[in-house]
Amino acid sequence: MGIQKLGVIGAGQMGNGIAHVAALAGFDVLVQDVAQAALDKGMATIDKNLARQVQKAQVSAEDAAAARARILTTTDVAAFADRDLVIEAATENVDLKLRIFEGLAKATPSTTLLASNTSSISITAIGARTDRPDKVIGMHFMNPVPVMQLVEVIRGLATSDETWAAVDAAAKRMGKTTVLSADRPGFLVNRVLMPYLNEAMFTVMEGVGTVEDLDTAMKLGTNVPMGPLQLADFIGLDTCLAILEVLHKELGDPRYRPCPILRKYVEAGWLGKKSGRGFYKY
Ligand code: NAD
Repeated sequence: MGIQKLGVIGAGQMGNGIAHVAALAGFDVLVQDVAQAALDKGMATIDKNLARQVQKAQVSAEDAAAARARILTTTDVAAFADRDLVIEAATENVDLKLRIFEGLAKATPSTTLLASNTSSISITAIGARTDRPDKVIGMHFMNPVPVMQLVEVIRGLATSDETWAAVDAAAKRMGKTTVLSADRPGFLVNRVLMPYLNEAMFTVMEGVGTVEDLDTAMKLGTNVPMGPLQLADFIGLDTCLAILEVLHKELGDPRYRPCPILRKYVEAGWLGKKSGRGFYKY
């Protein structure tokens, strides 16, 4: 089945990035969010990121303009009725996602494939809330989407081979490399990444070193582009907390308990780069 018309739910960090790469790859994209302000902010980010790619000569001005023209926005899920694939990238919250997929099943024909960009929530549980669990799949892009190469594809218990093949091909058409993960908490990437970020938070909380020194230590000591606390800020501390809560609850092992300072920062509204303050100020 050929996918051409794509829907994206959520115009935040991930949603606008997915819309950006999909439009550059030639898909028709319709982005939905709850508020016009969120859509405007997301579109402004796409404009800025496309302009940067043109400036760096990674994309021609014509291709950038054509891609931008392929992206439309709406606040109404009913507008997804003609979509081949809808990728959900709303806030990481189980109840919210289950509600969104119940709504999507009503708003789209039974042929529409439904994907979630969730970092940790069960694809099987999401699929069970729809009329088509065989057509529900995880499509986990990395942040920032236009830069990062990977898409983790997650098959729920009921996901069909056809759905997997179609979504895997769509990710590759967007220029991404895919890996396949079973539907287990955190999948491949966050099962390993989140305990690492959480341990970095416990380490600074215990006063072993400063935020800056720990990040410098890991950056230069393990040859990664960004230290763990800066990376947590980039991901969003609310998102990190939500993923750790899922790992902790689903795997039942105390080693996944979220660090108390992570909880405090989220309570304070210090969500990292997107809110202007996290472990660093932006
Ligand atoms: P974000 O906070 O930047 O954006 C979330 C967007 O969802 C907001 O624009 C919000 O208005 C919108 N939204 C909330 N409820 C909605 C609803 N009912 N309908 C439509 N839109 C709604 O968050 P983000 O970082 O873009 O994360 C989105 C998803 O992507 C989460 O599931 C997250 O786990 C996942 N993810 C995040 C990262 C990352 O590094 N931030 C990486 C991979 C996957």
